[in-house]
Amino acid sequence: MSERKRVLTGDRPTGKLHLGHYVGSLLNRVRLQDQYECFFLIADLHMLTTKPSKEDIEMIDKNAREMVLDYLAVGIDPNKSVIYLQSAVHEVYELNLFFEMLVTLNRLVRLPSIKDMARAAKMDEDTIPFGLVGYPVLQAADILLPRAHLVPVGKDNLAHVEISREIARRFNRTYGEVFPIPEALIGEVPTLVGIDGKAKMSKSLNNAIFLSDPPEVVRKKVMKMYTDPKRIRADIPGTVEGNPVFIYHDIFNPNKEEVEDLKRRYREGRVGDVEVKEKLARALNEFLDPIRERRAEYAARTGYVEDVIWRGTERMREEARQTMDQVYRAMGFRNVWNRIRRKAERYQKKQAKQEATE
Ligand code: ATP
Ligand code: MG
Repeated sequence: MSERKRVLTGDRPTGKLHLGHYVGSLLNRVRLQDQYECFFLIADLHMLTTKPSKEDIEMIDKNAREMVLDYLAVGIDPNKSVIYLQSAVHEVYELNLFFEMLVTLNRLVRLPSIKDMARAAKMDEDTIPFGLVGYPVLQAADILLPRAHLVPVGKDNLAHVEISREIARRFNRTYGEVFPIPEALIGEVPTLVGIDGKAKMSKSLNNAIFLSDPPEVVRKKVMKMYTDPKRIRADIPGTVEGNPVFIYHDIFNPNKEEVEDLKRRYREGRVGDVEVKEKLARALNEFLDPIRERRAEYAARTGYVEDVIWRGTERMREEARQTMDQVYRAMGFRNVWNRIRRKAERYQKKQAKQEATE
């Protein structure tokens, strides 16, 4: 058995992954792979909180495939890390139920992230399902099922990991030490802005550059990116700070001299937006080219992605059974069941003997 500490994180299979996922979480996952035992979940049960229709469920395998292709393309190695489908590991439903008793409703309904998700899904107080309020509880079950120590997530997810910590502490105090207290690991870019200048790049906000976007699509998206709105002509001095185009340059353009030169000229009103954006589009495409290439290679191997998911799921099931065994023991259920079973067996024996003598 390996003694390495564990990582758990994942994404809902609601579409392809974007640059925000990359800087917020994927990059850390790739970096942690050798040092930690990593578990990456395809969070299809979490998808149900906002997309519960039969049509949505029908799409899970197709969406999971796209997402796992993104994982593999950025360098997540299925020989080092376990990639699994949440809904096929039934123990998470059990752990979720126990955890529901260890957190108050008030604690959950006050979370801004839940309100944001409800708003994004066009839900209000009357239509928000119980399950969406319970999102962070299910996430705690995800994290603690493989008894993970570290959770690489974007900053928007920090409050949820905090709930997991509270639940883990509460469980251990109430029933005995079973779980480590997990810690969040935020990416170097805690939250990547959207191409529209909105605080967060997000699948559902339609402001994302996807890791699998073809070069021409990336260029088009960059050319219409939000920049300094006061700068209506190239000779007007512009603001670099907080400007999405320069934020992206800083993150994705490895040519620091070029970036500094563009910033200087931008501030002095000596460069057009088109040049700044053309150079960003080129840098982004150079960053994405090897990712796109690897993606195409994996996509061409029919059944490979599904094999990765299925093997990972079976591996996770074993892990989950071990944890739940500890959970049922710690909570005292094993003793309760044993007492009932022993009495039942004694009774059955007695009955059988009686029937034999009759
Ligand atoms: P949705 O719009 O469906 O909520 P999303 O694009 O916000 O999708 P999630 O599935 O909510 O993506 O997030 C998966 C992981 O990626 C989380 O850890 C989240 O914090 C991180 N993440 C998502 N978007 C960003 C971003 N713009 N910057 C940094 N991290 C991000
Ligand atoms: Mg989100």
